[in-house]
Amino acid sequence: MNAEIIAIGSEMLTPTRVDTNSLWLTDQLNKLGVEVVSKTIVGDDRERLTATLSASISRSDIILITGGLGPTEDDLTRECVATATGRCMSFRPELLQAIADRFASMKKSMAENNRRQAYLIDGADALDNPNGTAPGQFLELGGPKAIVLLPGPPREMKPMYANHIEPRLKAMLPPLFIASVWYRVAGMGESDLDQLIAPVYTKYPHVVTTVLAKPGDVEVHLRARAATQNAADAELAAVAPKIRELLGERVYSEDGATLEASVGRMLKSRGATLGVAESCTGGMLGERITAVPGSSAYFKGGFLTYSNEMKTTLLGVPAELIAEHTEVSEPVAKAMAEGARERIGCTWALSVTGYAGPDGGTEANPVGTVFIGLAGPEGTQARRFFTIPDRHRVRTIASTTALDWLRKSLS
Ligand code: ATP
Ligand code: MG
Repeated sequence: MNAEIIAIGSEMLTPTRVDTNSLWLTDQLNKLGVEVVSKTIVGDDRERLTATLSASISRSDIILITGGLGPTEDDLTRECVATATGRCMSFRPELLQAIADRFASMKKSMAENNRRQAYLIDGADALDNPNGTAPGQFLELGGPKAIVLLPGPPREMKPMYANHIEPRLKAMLPPLFIASVWYRVAGMGESDLDQLIAPVYTKYPHVVTTVLAKPGDVEVHLRARAATQNAADAELAAVAPKIRELLGERVYSEDGATLEASVGRMLKSRGATLGVAESCTGGMLGERITAVPGSSAYFKGGFLTYSNEMKTTLLGVPAELIAEHTEVSEPVAKAMAEGARERIGCTWALSVTGYAGPDGGTEANPVGTVFIGLAGPEGTQARRFFTIPDRHRVRTIASTTALDWLRKSLS
């Protein structure tokens, strides 16, 4: 079975809003073994919307629609689905009552136009919405084919999908079992990684392999689907260990944990602590580390020493050392890490100093050059790396590289 997702709303066509509903729904559908073959965003325009719906209905099995179920004139989803399926709508007093009850429970008065939300497409099931006013609708067309109308706000849409849609879709689908594994890798580009593993996964077309890249970080998903769990497990087991071996020690998590969470787990299990001294990352490293719940068990704190003066005053990096080597250099990265380790009194300290750009840099160390220092129980080291000189990228990759270096030192 295949599916299509249609996100309705003119605001999703502006530069500031993103259609995140379809990403979430795609993940849910994939878990059921349903492939999403098309996604569309349509503005609040009657003709365009009806035309889009008609085309989708003619070519796909499951059509999931989000948005446009509100009470206002520009909420056109119900009407347009009725037109596209050649059905009428009827007013349902019980739906209006549920909406009225919700307003009453919030001590608000209901506007007259909320009546619009009490119209149900003939043949559809109404889906209650405990998190909003708009009821959803599920219209089975036989074949099997189904059209689903969901509210736009994610906090209303997600529970409605989970409570009402997933069970209905499951009932429509043949039994399907899934086995999956998820490797996260740092320190390797997407194309290098793909080149490394493609010779293996292309031999197993039944296992869906997806490679997703973010700056400094790549995820490999392997998913096998079969009529029994044993068969799905066996399909996955034929390929996953081979991929795992090729990726080797670059894999930092197999359960979806972030790099910072994986490092955190390692520090905690060893009873070790961490501190940071940051220059070009401006706190990004500390932010990532502390975004992990429970990080206080191992993270002691850090220094944000953006200027050379602060590197000297707060971390004790000698001014002469900076004058001799510049602030973006191996000796300074080392001195920053050592200064942080000493002053914080932690087992490990990471430092980052680099040129994030767009200005700055030297001939020897142009924008995109970063030095990372790591001070630990066995001494201090520093290393240099270079990445495409894009400010956000440099900062992200710098913090990832630092965390990954610590991970490797811990393992
Ligand atoms: P409402 O009763 O709130 O009007 P609705 O079903 O008509 O609900 P919309 O008006 O289309 O939904 O969207 C309401 C809000 O929900 C939007 O302002 C937006 O914040 C969010 N939203 C809608 N569609 C999406 C989407 N595809 N992805 C993420 N957020 C969305
Ligand atoms: Mg609306």
